Amino acid sequence: MSASFSSALSHLECSKTGVESDPDIVQGTSEVGAPLLARYDLDRVRATVTREEIANRAPDLWRYRELLPVRDERHVITLGEGMTPLLDLKRYGASLGVPGLRMKDEGLIPTGTFKARGAAVGVSRASELGVTGIAMPTNGNAGAAWSVYAARAGMRSLIAMPVDAPEITRTECVVSGAELYLVDGLIGDAGKLIAAAVAEREGFQEVSTLKEPYRLEGKKTMGYEIVEQLGWRAPDVILYPTGGGVGIIGIYKALLEMRELGWLTGDLPRLVAVQAEGCAPIVEAYKRGDSESVAFPDARTVAFGITVPKALGDFLVLDAVRKTEGTAITVTDKELLAAQGALASSEGMFVCPEGAACFAAVEQLRGSGWLRGDENVVVLNTGTGLKYPETVPVDVPTLPVDGRIPLAPEPR
Ligand SMILES: *Cc1c(COP(=O)(O)O)cnc(C)c1O
Repeated sequence: MSASFSSALSHLECSKTGVESDPDIVQGTSEVGAPLLARYDLDRVRATVTREEIANRAPDLWRYRELLPVRDERHVITLGEGMTPLLDLKRYGASLGVPGLRMKDEGLIPTGTFKARGAAVGVSRASELGVTGIAMPTNGNAGAAWSVYAARAGMRSLIAMPVDAPEITRTECVVSGAELYLVDGLIGDAGKLIAAAVAEREGFQEVSTLKEPYRLEGKKTMGYEIVEQLGWRAPDVILYPTGGGVGIIGIYKALLEMRELGWLTGDLPRLVAVQAEGCAPIVEAYKRGDSESVAFPDARTVAFGITVPKALGDFLVLDAVRKTEGTAITVTDKELLAAQGALASSEGMFVCPEGAACFAAVEQLRGSGWLRGDENVVVLNTGTGLKYPETVPVDVPTLPVDGRIPLAPEPR
């Protein structure tokens, strides 16, 4: 393969004003403080690569290299991320009245959450542009993923996370050599500390959610993979557990790119943003008919990855949901934990509470008739349940060494 990695990246574009900027220097947000979107020369992509060629490439997210921002292959920092399985859920789907239910399992990716996609592409591109350290506030999983990829790239990492973030994510940061701080507050509080620190440090780039353009590019590959795995067809509906919204914005961006490339025809899938009742700023804005959200007070849910009271990209999430005729709904912690248990016991899949929220949402949307029983539905399970052992209470008997296992299980 040539040193030019055939990326068709052409420019960056402000998501609010459309003003263009240079993609080949380190960039944060646009001059009005909005996320920057990477744009590609899609005519060139269409002329140089086909879906059949992509099918023959290695099973990782770099198979979409023309549509990713890294220009030189030598700057690709990889741990083998991407091409996660798209699994059918016949028994569980039938029990919900949605036999065409599938799950894209992001639990099977380095660091156990889809955050690895954004980190792989974000760190690779930062390294290509000469950044030597990354800094971010996180609800845990992003910090873990970026620390791990920074280590792989030989970069420094500075991370701040709420004390309530999943404990394993602290361990991942520490073992990969990050400089980690815990904050007695929420992700926004961690963000203020990081922004202040970055202003005083040389060589660090702040890579908070949507404050640099390339994490989104990594996450959009979930959209490419779903469509490729279905034989270059879109499902009818995609549900996504929405915090900062990068995943759902990225999937929408991928769908639009594929449509423009002629790789996807017909209606786009209806995109559903799922939030927890304890932190639902985007759902509230959707119901009010607003184009932006208002900071959600006293945010709290077991689905820690979606505890984002005010997202910088809220307007992009709302746009994706409305343009695709999707919807935005909440589920309670009780409902999502029940879905987590039901899915694990009927299909053997231990999903994270964020992913479980989407399954609880499928149940609600089928109940209300919004989802029809004959539709093809894809749920993003954004991470493995193994990162959240505390979500499942384990109450089992301990036997004495000379004890006896009963003939049948005790009723619980
Ligand atoms: C970060 C995270 C989310 C939310 O992702 P966004 O794309 O920022 O909305 C969902 N699930 C898990 C497990 C996460 O770590």
